[in-house]
Amino acid sequence: MSEAAQPARRIIARCRELAQVSDVPGQTTRLFLSPATREAHVLVGGWIRAAGLKLRIDAIGNLRGLLGSEDLPRLVIGSHLDTVIDAGAFDGPLGVMLGIELAHASAHDHLPFAIEVIGFSEEEGVRFAKPFLGSLAATGELSENILGLRDAEGVTLRQAVAEFGLDITLLPEAHLSEYALAYLEFHIEQGPVLDSDGEPVAVVQAIAGQSRIQVSFHGHSNHAGTTPMGRLRRDALAAASEWVTEVERYASGCEGLVATVANLEVPGGAANVIAGRCFATLDVRHAEDAVRLQAVESITAAARQAGERRRVAVEFKTSLDQTAVPMDTVLADNLAAACARFTGKPARRITSGAGHDAMILAGRLPPAMLFLRSPGGVSHHPTESVNVSDVEAAYGAGLEFLRSLRDDRAMFDLLVKRASNHRREAQNA
Ligand SMILES: [Zn+2]
Repeated sequence: MSEAAQPARRIIARCRELAQVSDVPGQTTRLFLSPATREAHVLVGGWIRAAGLKLRIDAIGNLRGLLGSEDLPRLVIGSHLDTVIDAGAFDGPLGVMLGIELAHASAHDHLPFAIEVIGFSEEEGVRFAKPFLGSLAATGELSENILGLRDAEGVTLRQAVAEFGLDITLLPEAHLSEYALAYLEFHIEQGPVLDSDGEPVAVVQAIAGQSRIQVSFHGHSNHAGTTPMGRLRRDALAAASEWVTEVERYASGCEGLVATVANLEVPGGAANVIAGRCFATLDVRHAEDAVRLQAVESITAAARQAGERRRVAVEFKTSLDQTAVPMDTVLADNLAAACARFTGKPARRITSGAGHDAMILAGRLPPAMLFLRSPGGVSHHPTESVNVSDVEAAYGAGLEFLRSLRDDRAMFDLLVKRASNHRREAQNA
């Protein structure tokens, strides 16, 4: 049995046990600073202590465990403990449990750095309709505006923190240590790529940038029976439909691009009425911002052309324009080499189509991410799962990665230098 077999089984068992801790009986639903979160803190906090780490809960409810002394350079390993509604067991917690096991296994490895494991309190954004609250607190970006946000019950974030028994004036203590060196996150892929290619893990190269746009087609409603086909019709739905297939055609021809039209809506639609208005949402993602922005330009031009042919006006409203976040190339190469040493074959590289805490941490630290295969590509669903052998591969690669930083002094010194350069660049940006 490999050195990774037992930890991998424990990691999975703990994710499954944590999945029982829920705000809704019979589901896995753990919302930010909810009763289930309090219970999760007790359970996961116990595992962190048992692994030999020093435990604390910061002012935004991030659960943190430190191995090693406060003034050593520090590698941060994290992911989130909150979930979507009716979630699976692994999106988030898997990365936290892997971090705990890796820290535990490293306790006697004489690493030249400390390891801080963070279970972020809020990544999904369910309660306050604002994701990444935990990681934003760690990077010092939790603004007054955010603290004033209200949940569905009208409770502000500031009040929720107080009601949970935390002290918001201690928020500065939630900031990452000045000695923090790099951020490492393990996460399930939440997509079908690794599963369909038969790959256990992949090193993330970048988190894709995203554009979200509301598109409105304005034509003219009229009687479906008495208005002949052709120039007398101003059919908003026909214009939108032509455009939808053009979006699919364009994105299919562009390497790495995903573009999706969803929420197609025909207000007041009826069988005998030509659609006067049609609304749609457009979501475009790519690892390179230039490619994404070019795609948005071409796709919106195609909507206008489909409209013009029918005298249908088209309007666009951008609701999200988020730049891509590249992962640190040195860390990524190191992680890939660690994977190759453990699995015996080169690690695959992948772009993350979804957002993760690493995206926020990247504003402060060089980031790295390792994806684990999602069997069936399933995520955000109770049937979400992982393969034991894939968790073994991630754990084994993680240990190799940590030991390489211990054994390769030049590499470690390079990371220390990169961390201070990264911080300087972030401050100047
Ligand atoms: Zn997640």
